[in-house]
Amino acid sequence: MSGPFRIAESKTVAGRADYFTGKVCLADLMPPQSAGAVAYKWVSFEPGARTNWHVHAFAQDLYVVAGICFVQIEGQKVIQVQAGEMYHFPAGVLHWHGAGPTLPCIHLAINGDGATDWKHPVSSEEYAAG
Ligand code: MN
Repeated sequence: MSGPFRIAESKTVAGRADYFTGKVCLADLMPPQSAGAVAYKWVSFEPGARTNWHVHAFAQDLYVVAGICFVQIEGQKVIQVQAGEMYHFPAGVLHWHGAGPTLPCIHLAINGDGATDWKHPVSSEEYAAG
């Protein structure tokens, strides 16, 4: 199937409380269209909102559309990714992403068509360390 895929027709859902902290909205921009194709999701985070720690079966790329997104890979420092920049998570790496404490952010999440293994929330201490 080919496009265009209308953003107005994509269904927006709230981030599940068992996967996210704070207010998060997700919309499918384009589900995988053929074998091996990637999925594009639009994800918006209010200030302080973030994913739980999680692992993707395949790599994930983030493209920051607005604001500054905070990202962290287990054992590394929190990185701030600005609008217009991308960030790459290799497959199988434990990480989280979300907004900083003072500004909302929006990123596209570009994922291989595989499962996400959701873990525990990012604690206030872990988040504040960023
Ligand atoms: Mn991720």
